[in-house]
Amino acid sequence: MQAWLQTTQQQLSRQLHANKLPHAILFSGVKGAGHEELALWLTQVLLCQHYHVDNLNILHGCNQCKTCQLFASNSYPDHITLSTDKATIGVDEVRKLSQFFEKTAHIGTAKTAWVKQADSMTISAANALLKTLEEPTANSFIILTTNSVETLLPTIISRCQQFKIRPPVGENLLAEFSIGDGQHVTLQHNQQSTDLFANLSHYSELSDASVANDFQTFRNNIKQYLCYHAHRAELLKALVDNNNAMRWFEKVIVDLTREQWRWELSAQSDLEMNLGTEKLWQIYRLIQTANMKLKTLVQVNRQFLSEKLLVDISQIVNSAEG
Ligand SMILES: [Zn+2]
Repeated sequence: MQAWLQTTQQQLSRQLHANKLPHAILFSGVKGAGHEELALWLTQVLLCQHYHVDNLNILHGCNQCKTCQLFASNSYPDHITLSTDKATIGVDEVRKLSQFFEKTAHIGTAKTAWVKQADSMTISAANALLKTLEEPTANSFIILTTNSVETLLPTIISRCQQFKIRPPVGENLLAEFSIGDGQHVTLQHNQQSTDLFANLSHYSELSDASVANDFQTFRNNIKQYLCYHAHRAELLKALVDNNNAMRWFEKVIVDLTREQWRWELSAQSDLEMNLGTEKLWQIYRLIQTANMKLKTLVQVNRQFLSEKLLVDISQIVNSAEG
């Protein structure tokens, strides 16, 4: 599990241990924030017959009892997952969930349901779920996850204990890395927060389709540049002409760093490129410095600064592994 989920796990473990876990729990966050991992973790702990506590006071399923084994093979009868390959979760699926809770548990005492992508429920599905949320049966737990909590019905949100999962970004993210020879990066935390999520809704690429399109192109060009030294001219033009570009550059590097970090934690092999966190970190600092110069210096040659930035970045990319 990602390190930033620990405080949430600790809180939920305390509540569960004290028998104070609410009937409905909502985990929200951007894609990759870890809220789905939390839902799986919590479900397993709720169902496991022999959970244990680790030295961080976090509960864990045992992975060995009959429940854990059946749950791992997706065949535990006292759990139901609602998800959809289609655009929406319909009212029929939510009715299945209500009927599921009306029956007594087959094996253990608790029954659990996970509504994945809860925001994709249709209005009538959400209204049907409201009824189930309002009339909980004993020892039943409904866990909802969503990547877009703002599109979930407020009445649903109000019936749940909500956990907003925010992975660290920018300086906070990089501060969690061990860089180089096991040296931990120390950063000044009194600097202005670079938390991208704090102001996401103000950014035009989220509300304007053509800006969003420019962002995607820019993002692809960065990847091509970092991997193959391609698209230098387009990248340079964007950096000189587009006022969003320098901020986008920071954001893309932060995203790539996060992908890299997750990849190193989980050993998944779906990473598009593998620059290493140290190089990404150096690139991030270069962009930050360039961005700061653009913002604070009155007389700055944007063309020259952008050209130099790209040269410096390719030197880092091409340098020998540290
Ligand atoms: Zn178990």
